[in-house]
Amino acid sequence: MTDFTYAVDADGVATITWDVQGKSMNVLNLDSRDLLESFIDKALADPAVKGVILTSGKKDFAGGMDLNIIAKMKESAGDDPARGLFEGIMAFHALERKIELGGMDFKTKKGGKPIVAALPGTGLGIGLEIPLACHRIIAADNPKAKIGLPEILVGIFPGAGGTTRLVRKMGAMAAAPFLLEGKLSDPKKAKAAGIIDEVVAPDQLLARAKEWVLNATDADIVKPWDAKGYKMPGGAPYHPAGFMTYVGASAMVHGKTMGVYPAAKALLSAVYEGALVPFDTALKIEARWFTNVLMNPSSAAMIRSLFINKEALEKGANRPKVDDQTVKKVGVLGAGMMGAGIAYVSANAGIEVVLIDAAQDAADRGKSHAEGILDKGMKRGKVSAEKKAEVLGRITATTDYAALKGCDLVVEAVFEDMGVKAEVTAKAEAVLGKDAVFATNTSTLPISDLAKASGRPDHFIGIHFFSPVDKMLLVEIIKGRETGDIAVAKSLDFVRQIRKTPIVVNDARFFYANRCIIPYINEGIRMVAEGVEPALVENAAKLVGMPLGPLQLVDETSIDLGVKIAKATKLAMGDAYPDGAVDAVLFAMADQGRLGRKSNAGFYAYDEAGKRTGLWDGLASAYPAADTQPELTEVQHRLLFAQVLEAVRALEDGVLEDIREGDVGAILGWGFAPWSGGPFSWLDMLGAARAVDLCDALVTQHGDRFTAPALLRDMAAKGESFYGRFTTKAQAA
Ligand code: NAD
Repeated sequence: MTDFTYAVDADGVATITWDVQGKSMNVLNLDSRDLLESFIDKALADPAVKGVILTSGKKDFAGGMDLNIIAKMKESAGDDPARGLFEGIMAFHALERKIELGGMDFKTKKGGKPIVAALPGTGLGIGLEIPLACHRIIAADNPKAKIGLPEILVGIFPGAGGTTRLVRKMGAMAAAPFLLEGKLSDPKKAKAAGIIDEVVAPDQLLARAKEWVLNATDADIVKPWDAKGYKMPGGAPYHPAGFMTYVGASAMVHGKTMGVYPAAKALLSAVYEGALVPFDTALKIEARWFTNVLMNPSSAAMIRSLFINKEALEKGANRPKVDDQTVKKVGVLGAGMMGAGIAYVSANAGIEVVLIDAAQDAADRGKSHAEGILDKGMKRGKVSAEKKAEVLGRITATTDYAALKGCDLVVEAVFEDMGVKAEVTAKAEAVLGKDAVFATNTSTLPISDLAKASGRPDHFIGIHFFSPVDKMLLVEIIKGRETGDIAVAKSLDFVRQIRKTPIVVNDARFFYANRCIIPYINEGIRMVAEGVEPALVENAAKLVGMPLGPLQLVDETSIDLGVKIAKATKLAMGDAYPDGAVDAVLFAMADQGRLGRKSNAGFYAYDEAGKRTGLWDGLASAYPAADTQPELTEVQHRLLFAQVLEAVRALEDGVLEDIREGDVGAILGWGFAPWSGGPFSWLDMLGAARAVDLCDALVTQHGDRFTAPALLRDMAAKGESFYGRFTTKAQAA
């Protein structure tokens, strides 16, 4: 194993170089941790070594911890997984403390060896926690590098010493955005914030690190918190300034997380309790809270969906085994809201784009949309003038279909109309080469029906983006009846190029995401019609971790779109259509011109600047509140089951083929309670038997739409979970 190598130069400086073979990014696992420790021991024990440089052989330092080790640590202690975790975490702390003390005599603080972290690029998670234990962090001036502790974003927190050290280095208030929001910075900003100590020209990195090591004094290697008289920056919790910070932070975290994210609360507890005690005890407290979080099913589910499975899908877990289908030139038909967004993300990823609309000014407007996004990026210092010119230079806005020649992929985003879509399909295919793939961005029309307009339905597919295209991370790829492997692989390779996360589903009404989100909106509106307080509906949704309540969501997506979808669904379903009560409210709102945010009036009221001012008071007179209001949990169960039962039906129907896609797609596509890890993870947490019982109770009170699907009943009878039943050995590995 050669994840780290060790060399000592003629001046007595040892260099430990991190370079995981066969991987583009360094990631720490248990074996490599042991190897690093053995090299630290060797350097500290060798009288010829004056100090150590810890660096990387790659362009970046490290991307973090291999989160699969969490499972290994749990398993290591048999039936006491918490002990396995705690001891595993403490072993990381011990290694970092060894680095931090550098072999010094703790009493006199003398005789230690300086250890410097030299970061050529990105250092994330444990890739920053280890440097924080070093005596100095020097980073190369690499504006592309990201420095930070993003653990909170996958449902955990920096528990390998990062929390305790950052707070003691910067103060709780200054550390808050980096710990609680996972804020990342480039090296210069990280230096300005006080996270790292020095930024130097990339070619000077190792020379400067060596110079520092050779000149470091005993005092240089004593961390402030190990020195006499240390005071925490910004004040400890019992100091008046500190007191304000902790009370404020607690309220802010609760307001932001609605109390559903265990990691944020645990982090705050670790920070607060740790600030009251000496450093080594604080590390132990951090390890205990970290263990607590890792034992929480929410964190395990978030790690599984947002880290492990999201990455697996991005790397092509469900990609057919065919040759590379990287897209070089894409055609985008329709330069409206969606088409313009698709053109921008493609050009931004280095793909040549032909953006076509019926009239030149419409095509030009689409290109201006891209310009607008780039201008915003420039204002925020994220985009350079050259980059803007480069991206815009890749977009040709035209009305001429002949320009599509040479495109290997075309995505159409013209009006949602079968005839218009058929016309542009034929026009494009007349110009395209025989291997090119044609994709539709339709939200509602069946892919297999649209494919009838194509001369080669095996090269026809759905690539469904979400709005706004530049921000939304999910792309739904939809296979029609005749879609072939090349079209699927091309779509997946395209989504990888534009750095989004794909799910691949089969063709059925509303595909996957919209199929689940529509019942959520409808359940919220149905409750308003029943006399449930609209504020109870909205707050119940947010308190269970939904980013938007159903009424706010329909205001955002527009009420007339809801009306359109309802009418089309009714037409297709005939007498079986179950949502008459919803339509009574929805249609009445539309009739009054309350179309949602776009008309500055909907379930919410808005001021002239378009800012929401609160729920519309007209709702109270149109739908008077019932005398008895339901319990909060009943409202939450109605809102959650409306979505998750649809997800289970999508799996039963074969629309979803992989529960990982169902979970990842739900969180990224419509923000389904991320703390839960997704609909299937949530049902697994409940247990199938309890889920069935809750469904039965909801059916009695609220109707057949809550009928537990046969699959869920079968699982309940057999005591199975979704991840137990549907995860193959290969996926679990
Ligand atoms: P839009 O009305 O903003 O844009 C449609 C564009 O297509 C217009 O610029 C129009 O001029 C152009 N167009 C119409 N006929 C054309 C033709 N024959 N040749 C070339 N261009 C033509 O609509 P949109 O919101 O961007 O939606 C486009 C597609 O994306 C629809 O199929 C819609 O269902 C789907 N979609 C929309 C959303 C959304 O949130 N709006 C989300 C996902 C998918």
